[in-house]
Amino acid sequence: MRKATLAAAALLITACAVNPVTGKRQLSLVSEAQEIEMGRGEVVRAREETGFYPDSGLTAYIAGIGKRMAAASERPDLPWEFHLIDDPMVNAFAAPGGFIFITRGILAYMNSEAELAGVIGHEIGHVTAKHTVTAISRQQAGTIGIIGAAILTNDQRVADLGGAGLGVLFLKYGRDQERQSDGLGHRYSLAQGYDVREMPKTFMTLGRVSEASGDAGRIPGFLSTHPDPGDRVAATTAWADTVSDYSKLITGRDRFLAQMNGLVYGEDPRQGYFEGVRFLHQGLRLQFDMPNGWRGINQASQVIMVEPNGTAQIIMKQAAQASLNEAMAAWRQQQGVTTGAATAGNVGQGSQSAEFTASMQDGTALRGRVQFFLHGGSVYQVLGLSTSVNWSQWIGAVDATMRSFTTPPANQQYRRVRELRVVTLPSGKTVDALAGESGGAATARELALINSVDEGVMLAAGKKVKTIRWR
Ligand SMILES: [Zn+2]
Repeated sequence: MRKATLAAAALLITACAVNPVTGKRQLSLVSEAQEIEMGRGEVVRAREETGFYPDSGLTAYIAGIGKRMAAASERPDLPWEFHLIDDPMVNAFAAPGGFIFITRGILAYMNSEAELAGVIGHEIGHVTAKHTVTAISRQQAGTIGIIGAAILTNDQRVADLGGAGLGVLFLKYGRDQERQSDGLGHRYSLAQGYDVREMPKTFMTLGRVSEASGDAGRIPGFLSTHPDPGDRVAATTAWADTVSDYSKLITGRDRFLAQMNGLVYGEDPRQGYFEGVRFLHQGLRLQFDMPNGWRGINQASQVIMVEPNGTAQIIMKQAAQASLNEAMAAWRQQQGVTTGAATAGNVGQGSQSAEFTASMQDGTALRGRVQFFLHGGSVYQVLGLSTSVNWSQWIGAVDATMRSFTTPPANQQYRRVRELRVVTLPSGKTVDALAGESGGAATARELALINSVDEGVMLAAGKKVKTIRWR
């Protein structure tokens, strides 16, 4: 809802503005104040949907680098903020108004502060060159191919996850914009004294991560929304070659690695996870099964399950209300949703469910079922829906998932948390041997990727490397 309002307001004040980076006049649909408002909205969304990584020291370290770079950019007066997203996905992105997000997933694959600066500088570039604004304008104008979510959760993007586990803003930029941002990242890095020869290394590593994750079906977001890393290696290498004196440039490898010690690596099982179709959450003592073949997305505030063709979805989250009756009453008060009679059930420590109909902004009719159940003193909401024409096909699957919510058995084994550990090698060691010392926490392939070396390589004595251990 808020997004549509912004778009309408933006159209009223269509104006020409000077692009701060190019100095050229360009059509600007969004004022700076609106840009900042949009960006602040994304911060709220990121905190709710994915969550920020709870390490104030590491966040301050990243923000310090970012703020120094931003202060020397063409738009020093924006309210720049740098947030560390608690997500294993390899990603970094910018929201309008100077709000930059880096995932802990991308940090794990970097090996110097100069690499991090290159990525931050690239994202700052999207803001200073106003790419974020043009992308937003384009995205608002585009169709919203998302089922139901706009009406039922007030969130148009919740289901449009574009193959990623991250619910926050995904802006698509043009190839030229990406190149321009790489160029700005190079320039901003150099201005801070970073060794810009580190920049192509990031793209090489991310290219390898992308290849390695092919079999896991997880394309890193930073690459799926960005151009071919091969081109970017060539371009950033060519720019680095124009630097005449490298002697005063720094990589900041040691101080970067010091920050990586203890960083959670991979999925954090404490936040719940899917094992096949089963979702397990140790802290909430909760489990359920999604329909076969569906894709599960575990966000900070909800779990979304999507039918592969996007024709149906199930969303599960904690309700704000303290009782089933209050939760159902609040549901009924929603505009545009017609809800039938509630039926009592025995899911959890008692449940209520009801069928409903609604329609999307484009008029598409939707049908679904909402269920509230009590578990561990909290009320949970489970919402299953599809277009009206498809509902009869999915009602069985939705019903089975809704009935499956229960407490895991007492002897349930849960996955353990993995974290990065930075070690100085007392003697030369193969990546394989290093993996062997991890007690099963790491594979040689993972260690090769996070250290940006080949799997068969011998790591030299005295070298600082990242390894992975059980927490
Ligand atoms: Zn980019």
